[in-house]
Amino acid sequence: MTDTLAPAVSSDAASADAQGFPLERRVVTAIPGPKSVALHERRLKVVPVGVTATLPVYIERAHGAIAIDVDGNQFIDLGAGIGVTTIGHTDAAVVAAATEQLGKLTHTLFTITPYESYVRVAEYLAEHTPGDFAKKTVLVNSGAEAVENGVKIARKYTGRNGVGVLDHAYHGRTNLTMAMNFKAAPYATGFGPLAGDVYRAPNSYPYHDGLSGADAAARTIAYLEKTVGAADLACLVVEPIQGEGGFVVPADGYLPALQAWCTANGVVFIADEIQSGMARTGKYFASEHFGLVPDMVLSAKGIAGGLPLAGVTGRAEIMDSAQPGGLGGTFGGNPVAAAASVAVFEQIDGNNLLAEAGRIEAVLKPGLEALQKKYPVIGDVRGIGAMLAIELVAAGSHEPDAAAVTAVAAYAAQHGVLLLTAGTYGNVLRFLPSLAITNAQLEDALGVIDEAFASL
Ligand SMILES: *Cc1c(COP(=O)(O)O)cnc(C)c1O
Repeated sequence: MTDTLAPAVSSDAASADAQGFPLERRVVTAIPGPKSVALHERRLKVVPVGVTATLPVYIERAHGAIAIDVDGNQFIDLGAGIGVTTIGHTDAAVVAAATEQLGKLTHTLFTITPYESYVRVAEYLAEHTPGDFAKKTVLVNSGAEAVENGVKIARKYTGRNGVGVLDHAYHGRTNLTMAMNFKAAPYATGFGPLAGDVYRAPNSYPYHDGLSGADAAARTIAYLEKTVGAADLACLVVEPIQGEGGFVVPADGYLPALQAWCTANGVVFIADEIQSGMARTGKYFASEHFGLVPDMVLSAKGIAGGLPLAGVTGRAEIMDSAQPGGLGGTFGGNPVAAAASVAVFEQIDGNNLLAEAGRIEAVLKPGLEALQKKYPVIGDVRGIGAMLAIELVAAGSHEPDAAAVTAVAAYAAQHGVLLLTAGTYGNVLRFLPSLAITNAQLEDALGVIDEAFASL
């Protein structure tokens, strides 16, 4: 390929921010460059293949929506580490809060001798998750751990065992959560025995099923009633907008109908907002777009600006059903991660970052819709705020075209744009830029994606 050494890009935007950090993409070596290639050789000797390397480009620093690799290539990052650096890479306030905390206290174990930041994060979650009732939060280390704890608590509260999940769901890679995912490969293949009492029902996927929200909900509910029965169901765990499954936005009325059925039957309704939450869609939690008031909300990914932290927030009476000592863990709610999280909430509230997701949607969605008119391989454009996706299909059909996704993502990487894939059939490109991305960066990236489709 001759064009891997693309020249530095010029655009009307400034080329650096006030602190001198670059704002533009710039490809100066082949992708991956020589230093990345050398690092990758080292990695392959000591890191197992189960930990994939989608793009073996080794990142050295990042700020806002730009990531710079060890070879000096500057990428526009449309993935934000899968929606983790939602308010931007190395956000100044997050870095300052974590740095200050590092010098003060890095660990006590909250269940032995507590500290304030954990309590502050729990207060913020009580305030910002939907619902005007008493709520409590347990902090843990990862999304999957939040799912595990949510299920544990729902089982204790209800005295029931069954866990309902949906087709195309993704909930993690631990023993319980791999049984809750839709896809066996790669998440569960060969890793059994899987946890029992997990029941996976059809979801709402308007592009494919064409069902109204009411009809899709009736199908989901009928399935759960037949295969497990409400009386044995502890909880129903749903992603309000499915993440790994391909940013599937359910039909109007679908989620409220599920929640109403859960409430009527004493089933704990758990919103897995690990990918869709924390300002990603222009609300704190995507549940708000659908009028949902979940009994429990799971957050992780974007909650601490890049530090590992996750939360299970729920109705106080549900959360308090777990006995003293039943919840927690050595690192859960670590002081540095919690301090970073407090800074994330302060930034979202203080700088009205919720509005940034709307700004991004206003640039990116019409841009993607224009591409859809040009390229019939783009079957669907969907999503809300800074959580958008396109589904690629064989022209004139709904048959997945995963090869096109791979080719577009590879072309984008070669030209300085980091693009994530998704979808049960690997045929979705998802856009999860940080809220710090500028319109100029978005437009520049759209231009690269246009070229990528033209090159197919
Ligand atoms: C990423 C993700 C998880 C798992 O989170 P980890 O931190 O990777 O364990 C669970 N649910 C959803 C919706 C996710 O996007």
